[in-house]
Amino acid sequence: MESKYEFEEKYREQILKCSRCGFCQAVCPVYGATLRPALNARGKMLLLKEVMDGKIGLDDQLIETLFQCTTCANCFHNCPSGVDVPEIIKAVRQDMVRAGSCHPAFEGMNEVLEKHTNIYAEDEPEDFERVRNRKAEYVYFIGCVGSYREDEPTMAALDLLDRLKVDYTLIDEVCCSGVLEDVGFSIKEHLAEKNMALILETGAGTVITGCPYCFRTFNDKLQYSRLREAGVKVVHITQFLQDFGFGVKTDKRVTYHDPCDLGRHCGIYEEPRNTIRKIATDFVEMPDNRENALCCGAGGGVRGAYAKNSIAMARRRLEQVEEVGAEIVLTECNSCVHNLANAKLRRQKFRVYSTTEFINELMEEAE
Ligand code: SF4
Ligand code: SF4
Repeated sequence: MESKYEFEEKYREQILKCSRCGFCQAVCPVYGATLRPALNARGKMLLLKEVMDGKIGLDDQLIETLFQCTTCANCFHNCPSGVDVPEIIKAVRQDMVRAGSCHPAFEGMNEVLEKHTNIYAEDEPEDFERVRNRKAEYVYFIGCVGSYREDEPTMAALDLLDRLKVDYTLIDEVCCSGVLEDVGFSIKEHLAEKNMALILETGAGTVITGCPYCFRTFNDKLQYSRLREAGVKVVHITQFLQDFGFGVKTDKRVTYHDPCDLGRHCGIYEEPRNTIRKIATDFVEMPDNRENALCCGAGGGVRGAYAKNSIAMARRRLEQVEEVGAEIVLTECNSCVHNLANAKLRRQKFRVYSTTEFINELMEEAE
């Protein structure tokens, strides 16, 4: 039978491999927040089988199911049949957009990035009181959330780099636009070109990203290949920091939340822990950690499109922080910081920080 949609050509066999075992249900944050079986990976794969059988079309009725996935990859990690659900979902969303069915929040995001340089359509970013676009050894690339919504962790990350005497510059960065590929659209070439030109002009050999998603986009996407061809290395700040000593310690109980984009998608688990162990004498793991970490609910555009469910997912993660009695939960993704900090449990006793912000605060207090 001829394929009606492009996703079938690439993923038909994988979708048919889904044995309906249901192992994915327990780990799906969307299912955990909604308790709706149609929204976990199995439900999504069953729906796509019906689409491939021609029983239903990829139309508006499927938006709520197929656009409500954080692309956290916890299902893929736990799937005995190796069904790569996040990649399938991303391909299906591209087909849905081509067929004219898209969640309005994502259509809006795509339109915003046609006209603006960031996902929030803001005119001016915080200037962070730093000279931009100068020659330096490193570029620090903040990302949209850190530039426009979580400016305190960003300011702290920059202060920390100053304390560590790192020769870095900021640039007049624009959105890397990688997230558009998650929600049915494509990276904007003009934005990628602008970022690459600005980075190359600084002469920096390494870009340090504050955002795990920018890190993935710069390292993996074709539109950013000119950076790689020029020999520019891209590292996430957690990788960069692990080689430093900080000379400070906390005796508070600390735990760490693995961002999906850094952990399951990039395999970066030990670097942040190496850094945290240097500064925290009482470091504890949450029950679900590393490749099994629960998603904070922010990814895949879910925070913008399904805010209530996204917050419910974050609360489930915060309950694990409470369970281990941590006073501080650290993470190193501004989207996770944003979602976890906004979720707040009733009578919550712990605080959410980015690792860089917490270390910077300790160093400031010690001065
Ligand atoms: S774990 Fe994999 S095979 Fe099992 S139901 Fe989920 S997607 Fe299908
Ligand atoms: S990627 Fe995450 S949110 Fe999406 S179906 Fe799999 S477990 Fe659920």
